Amino acid sequence: MKNLQEEHLKKERKKMAKKVKRIHICPTCKGNGYIKIQNIYDIELQVHQCWDCDSEGEFVEYVEEEERVLN
Ligand SMILES: [Zn+2]
Repeated sequence: MKNLQEEHLKKERKKMAKKVKRIHICPTCKGNGYIKIQNIYDIELQVHQCWDCDSEGEFVEYVEEEERVLN
């Protein structure tokens, strides 16, 4: 009977693990979503969509955060 109880507790603990949304500013475009590149042969600035974050300007990451169980 004790084993069954422990299994139940393990399941309960799993439920407590929650996903935490983390947002990182894209270092390539610094959150703009695009990059201005100056061509030395061109006076005009060329605007490029950021290839690192798909023009989002930020990365969204979902991290599973476990709740700490204190004994
Ligand atoms: Zn970017």
